[in-house]
Amino acid sequence: MVVGAIHQGSDYVDMVMEIKKVGIIGAGQMGNGIAHVCALAGYDVGLGDLSIDRIESGLASINGNMARQVQKGLITEEQRTGALDRIKPAQDLDLLSDADLVIESAVENESVKRKIFSQLCPILKPEAILATNTSSISITRLAASTDRPERFIGIHFMNPVPIMELVELVRGIATEDETFEASKQFCDRLGKQIAVAEDFPAFMVNRILLPMINEAIYTLYEGVGSVDSIDKAMKLGANHPMGPLQLADFIGLDTCLSIMQVLYEGLADTKYRPCPLLVKYVEAGWLGRKTQRGFYDYRGEEPVPTR
Ligand code: NAD
Repeated sequence: MVVGAIHQGSDYVDMVMEIKKVGIIGAGQMGNGIAHVCALAGYDVGLGDLSIDRIESGLASINGNMARQVQKGLITEEQRTGALDRIKPAQDLDLLSDADLVIESAVENESVKRKIFSQLCPILKPEAILATNTSSISITRLAASTDRPERFIGIHFMNPVPIMELVELVRGIATEDETFEASKQFCDRLGKQIAVAEDFPAFMVNRILLPMINEAIYTLYEGVGSVDSIDKAMKLGANHPMGPLQLADFIGLDTCLSIMQVLYEGLADTKYRPCPLLVKYVEAGWLGRKTQRGFYDYRGEEPVPTR
């Protein structure tokens, strides 16, 4: 459906699509956060993942996170129940056939994302916008693997989605103005601030943030400091709200490694080589908070450094 007209410099963009239903693929920490903010903003949401169990675990996180927002007086109980009612499981992708916008937020792995797009595209309405929440992978390359490069865009949320204000909007080479404007209006309605990034590896935030995290892991690897001292140094010495190793655990060490690999390969510069210690943690399955262990062990009352 179309509503209203906009002007962009001298270019006239006819009509901007009204987004009513949003599909989200991936109910992990980012996907469930995106579902959370979309539902609170009044969108109907279809939430998909590999299994109903994973979707239910995502819904349970949303429920808990919204309950905390009610306790803090940020939203009302009515808003919480209304939003929860608007989120429907979509384990079967056919349930997204009426979505106006689908945001892919599965694992940071290009072949997984491409496979999702190949399954999804034949189901979607021709005018539906397809977006990815990738942290680092080329939007142009992902778009080229779909049937709609002109209706494809990067909408990169920050973690945790309900709290962080920023969204990076990333156009692929073929992204149409109308897709960009509709995505911008969507982010506005979520109450997010937008920073527009060009489509280069890891965009802006992660291009700057991840090499710092990787350097913190090298600092640990080379024995310059312990987990505690590195995090303390950056919190108290650089006024960061969280230490870099704590932040790495929060992001997910698998995601951190994938982003460093994309930077390393995409920019062909050895300064981006992933630290072997990061690789070792990922190989161990110690992926940070989401698996209860990373640079800290979260299984007890208090996080305990693992080195
Ligand atoms: P996560 O591991 O918490 O969740 C990923 C989810 O994808 C899992 O629930 C998994 O079951 C699901 N999945 C895997 N294969 C799938 C498939 N074929 N179909 C449907 N679902 C599938 O990871 P996350 O942190 O939520 O990251 C998701 C995306 O968001 C990644 O692209 C990541 O780079 C990006 N991102 C992450 C952060 C962060 O801080 N973690 C921030 C911004 C963007």
